[in-house]
Amino acid sequence: MHIEPLPIDGLSDYHVHCDYSVDATGTIEEYCEAALKRELAEICFTTHFDSNPKSDGFANYIRVKGEKKPATPEHLAPYVNDVLAAQEKYYPLGLSVKLGLEFGWYAGCEEKVARLKEWYDFEHLLVGVHEIRNLCFCAASTFEKCFADLSMEQAVEEYYRQVIDAARSGLFTAVAHLDYYRKYGEQFYGKAIHQQYTNYMGEVFAALKDSGTAIEVNTAARRKGLDSFFPSMEMINGAKREGVDVLFLGSDAHAPEQVGYDFEIAAHLVPHAIGGCDD
Ligand SMILES: [Zn+2]
Ligand SMILES: [Zn+2]
Repeated sequence: MHIEPLPIDGLSDYHVHCDYSVDATGTIEEYCEAALKRELAEICFTTHFDSNPKSDGFANYIRVKGEKKPATPEHLAPYVNDVLAAQEKYYPLGLSVKLGLEFGWYAGCEEKVARLKEWYDFEHLLVGVHEIRNLCFCAASTFEKCFADLSMEQAVEEYYRQVIDAARSGLFTAVAHLDYYRKYGEQFYGKAIHQQYTNYMGEVFAALKDSGTAIEVNTAARRKGLDSFFPSMEMINGAKREGVDVLFLGSDAHAPEQVGYDFEIAAHLVPHAIGGCDD
């Protein structure tokens, strides 16, 4: 695996999935080695924690030492221990390693999130909306089933209602990939999907700002063939103008070679991600 250093030193990647996520490959150490080759200053692990009891899908698991286990706080312990061990090992090598999680939002999850935060001291708790009506819209195998019963307007409306609820909960550091329905949205509904955000910007930004929830610039959009980020430039600019914190750069890597993907293009949008963020 050949990994080129980024042309900008000292960036932070605050959204990566190691093999504790059932849809990712690469151990925590392999990710750290990749981050060093990229010359990142920081890497924050954000494994998936999907636990919607009504979820009509495949996701409610953590992979622990090669075995699929239900997503419960107990089963996260080996992940937490491995990240903390990597923190000790890589600090002297110039890489800061942080403990995070990407919680899959669903209606009524607030108590579960609060309990998770009691169990573990996450430095970064991302919330990702991945489902509409309990069906995953962001996996190649399920998005058509999810969108089939929804008009474009309904899909976007129901997506942003969840984003607004997640932000208002005040439980999370940041919302991941703010306009993620675009991942397969264009393929299913056509290009008009990219303009749907305009109806929700005001309400979404107010919920983020009032709750002190930040957003990330997620470069996975570019890996998925979209020529922008999650969220789009229009939303990134709108968020900044409305006083929403745009604090994190995330590759959403699901394999080590994707760490820091296209950060040289996105870095200028997130000054906070340059030089590490130790506050
Ligand atoms: Zn996600
Ligand atoms: Zn992710």
